[in-house]
Amino acid sequence: MPLPIPYYDGHVHIFPEHWQRRIYHWFHRAGWKIRYQDFYEESLWDELVRHGMQGASVLVYAHRPGIARDLNQWLYAWGRTHPEARLYGTVHPDDPDLPEIVETVLDSWSMAGFKIHANVQAVRLDDARLDPLYRAVLERNRGVVVHAGREPHANATVGVGYFASLMARYPRLRVQVAHLGFDEVEAFLRLMEQYPNLYLDTAAIPSTQLTIGMEALRAVIHHFPDRIIYGSDVPILEEPFDAHWWRIWEACAQEPIRQKVFRLNLERFWNG
Ligand SMILES: [Zn+2]
Repeated sequence: MPLPIPYYDGHVHIFPEHWQRRIYHWFHRAGWKIRYQDFYEESLWDELVRHGMQGASVLVYAHRPGIARDLNQWLYAWGRTHPEARLYGTVHPDDPDLPEIVETVLDSWSMAGFKIHANVQAVRLDDARLDPLYRAVLERNRGVVVHAGREPHANATVGVGYFASLMARYPRLRVQVAHLGFDEVEAFLRLMEQYPNLYLDTAAIPSTQLTIGMEALRAVIHHFPDRIIYGSDVPILEEPFDAHWWRIWEACAQEPIRQKVFRLNLERFWNG
């Protein structure tokens, strides 16, 4: 059953098919049962559109240096035939031409900002190598989507501490933290009191790896109804995304909050 309103999705991953295959393979080996492992590029996007999705943040990330340019180029070309998509480019902290990549993405291709995956890219979010990116994003009033939290896979570069140190340096940065910052949701919520441009998304929340009770989820949403963004994490889900969004929908509980979480908050995040 479709949602009763057209909606936006703040967290979708679309990669070139051969990359997507490798990502599915990685999750498969890590023990995940990815529901959408037979979906690629068009079929994935069509599946979302068929369910009433009218716009989405499309996120890519480079897991090693030297590949961001090609990936961004691919994303840009893909985006030209999908005007409802807001594109978030990528750069690897070890890319020697990082400032040029940032400029191309933001100026030549007018993308919405960047996705930084502190875990997969093994980079602390407060790493000085990313400073040119943060400065460029701020100057142009764009946004950054980050995977900052320790779940579902922790390593030495994730956690709220590094994120807090980033925000202390760039307090006006418009940033969307994936997965409600799991598993340090409380600490991220405290940072939201200080930083008005900080948003959290619901990607894959709740799920087997990211568990939160319905009461707790409702409390989070109702604490910051203007800064929680519905995001699915499609295709990295072990269940159909409509099952996922119905739970977020239920947790919103009130009509005006649903409008915010499924549409208005993301619009504000996109446009500043
Ligand atoms: Zn994701």
